Amino acid sequence: MAMAQVEQRVTELRSLLQQASYAYYSLAQSIMEDAVYDRLYRELQELETQHPELITPDSPTQRVGDTPATGFESVTHNIPLYSLENAFDQGELQAWDQRWRRHMEIDLPNLVRYVCELKIDGSALALTYENGVLVRGATRGDGVAGEDITQNVRTIRSIPLRLNLEHPPERLEIRGEAFLPLTVFERINQERAAQGEALFANPRNAAAGTLRQLDSRIVAQRQLDFFAYTVYGATESMQSQWESLEFLQAIGFHVNPNRTRCASLDEITAYFDQWDTARMELPYLTDGMVVKLDDVALQQQLGFTQKFPRWAIALKYPAEEAPTVVEAIRVNVGRTGAVTPLAEFRPVQLAGTTVSRATLHNRDRVAELDIRVGDTVIVRKAGEIIPEVVRVLPELRPEDTIPFAMPTHCPECGEPLVQPADEAVTRCINASCPAIIKGSLVHWASRGAMDINGLGEKWVEQFVDRDLVRTVADLYDLTVDQLRTLDRMGQKSAQNLVEAIAQSKQQPWWRILYGLGIRHVGSVNAQLLTQHFPDKESLMNASFDQIEAIHGIGPEIAQAVHQWMHLEANQHLLAQLQTAGLTLNAPHSSTPPFPHSPIPPFPHQPLTNQTFVLTGTLPTLSRSEAAAKIQAAGGKVTGSVSSKTDYVIVGENAGSKFTKAQFLGVPCLSEAELLDLLMSTNPPA
Ligand code: NAD
Repeated sequence: MAMAQVEQRVTELRSLLQQASYAYYSLAQSIMEDAVYDRLYRELQELETQHPELITPDSPTQRVGDTPATGFESVTHNIPLYSLENAFDQGELQAWDQRWRRHMEIDLPNLVRYVCELKIDGSALALTYENGVLVRGATRGDGVAGEDITQNVRTIRSIPLRLNLEHPPERLEIRGEAFLPLTVFERINQERAAQGEALFANPRNAAAGTLRQLDSRIVAQRQLDFFAYTVYGATESMQSQWESLEFLQAIGFHVNPNRTRCASLDEITAYFDQWDTARMELPYLTDGMVVKLDDVALQQQLGFTQKFPRWAIALKYPAEEAPTVVEAIRVNVGRTGAVTPLAEFRPVQLAGTTVSRATLHNRDRVAELDIRVGDTVIVRKAGEIIPEVVRVLPELRPEDTIPFAMPTHCPECGEPLVQPADEAVTRCINASCPAIIKGSLVHWASRGAMDINGLGEKWVEQFVDRDLVRTVADLYDLTVDQLRTLDRMGQKSAQNLVEAIAQSKQQPWWRILYGLGIRHVGSVNAQLLTQHFPDKESLMNASFDQIEAIHGIGPEIAQAVHQWMHLEANQHLLAQLQTAGLTLNAPHSSTPPFPHSPIPPFPHQPLTNQTFVLTGTLPTLSRSEAAAKIQAAGGKVTGSVSSKTDYVIVGENAGSKFTKAQFLGVPCLSEAELLDLLMSTNPPA
């Protein structure tokens, strides 16, 4: 970056971080997600490290918190309330460990111990006790001075008004975190929604906002809780952080029970990983773990930087949202001709993986976001969910950006795109579009359809680009010699591929029907259709009404099938497949013709090689019952959705797996549909 650009970026970041800090600390509001604040802060810190001449005393990197809000009396803390340095991965934890070790001027004790405590996502409080009696409760404010909120602090039941100490010292300072249990947070937001008031963004804001209430009766109703973690001024001198926590518990405070002492970074990491999922079950929010050197003498030796103790660090859980900069906006043409816009951005770490592109779904979403190349955007990826752009930060938009418009012509074949009035999807309707051909070939070869081993995108790209293949029927004419002309295709691979293609001729009629990629015809519908129309002729001759009469086939599906079967080009394709040696009918014994018989049984376990994922709560079956039924019919049940999943069975409160299935176009079935499918496969004897 040129110097002028660096200066501009530093100014932008400072202004944005200052606004966010003011809102956060002084108004108990969030104008951006914490993870976003952290990333922008990091970026500023890095630029200031590279260009120290740009550091100013008012930079957000040089101060703790923000100026206290008015409304309460200001109090100066006897001992400042520091912030904590953050580590976002194991490398940063190690770097911290090396840093404090380098800083030591005395020899290290043989055994260095660390204490790991959960990092409670609330608001720091400083409590002063004189002769064992609570005399003052204050917020952190800017770390040097906070607000006197004693009246409100008195309403928190887990803060003792008198300490459980026979001979209390004249003065004792306690530090800890006030927080709102999640159930209370939800209740408060429900009440606020009912009264038309603005909702709190998260429990931390709600806790900070509650502590600043001028009416302490409201604070009392909100049921704040408090975990203590630091004590200053105890008469018995504390040798270790661990002892301090035990002392705090003994004198009447809540101390978080989820803590441990570790002797190595590996032990810390193991404890951190253990809480990564376990923390979801806690009744309050934690955003990481605080790692502290246990030995108080060591802590004293190390002291503080301007902002942080050198002897502690907050190890944060991976963010699910982060800001990044859009480098390009492209569109992708799928096998159905649907044109999907995608944002490509500077790679970011999200939920433990590196992400560099995200779907923008469709033209409506693009218009809603007004996303442009050069924009700073917030991207989200939670667990298994496909990354998506959540919002654009217009404050960080460079000057010369241009709005993105969906292309009017297909980027693959150049034909005009259509915009069906009733759909948000933009489509290419040119059946010879290479993107559509490639997509249909990949689908044809996929595991749920013709299951052609070794035939993936890599080869399909070349088949189409070299004009070797235009339809799925052309695959069956490919020769070893032709395949040998492809890049990186050896003799053996060419032979294997030709053989795998030939083997797929044995696949049953329903797989062929599914593989053809007719709209709305997933593998369940393909099986239903082939049970009723056991050969290509009967399906081609079926009327719309006959197709729609099948239980489980709605009018939309019936229309799509009927139209497809009546298109001359498609009839020609079926004839070509038949000539190539594929069997376009079901085995005779098991498939009596429509319409005289009920749904016949399949000749074999029909769910063999099919993969199912269960999500949400099903109305009558438990997960294990549903899984057992699927397995009895030959299917497999796995835990995560991918493009290889055949069906996702969706119950109430289905989560990210359902979203992912929809995104990938994996068919989703209800419990009733699953039972129908199983009934048709395992008819009562
Ligand atoms: P912090 O929250 O990252 O960590 C320090 C705080 O952790 C301490 O002050 C203490 O209150 C708390 N804590 C919880 N459990 C603890 C334990 N067991 N031992 C010690 N401390 C414990 O730092 P901060 O300075 O309070 O706030 C900075 C963070 O606030 C940023 O990283 C950002 O995520 C957030 N922030 C967000 C915005 C926004 O707009 N969203 C603005 C400003 C700051």
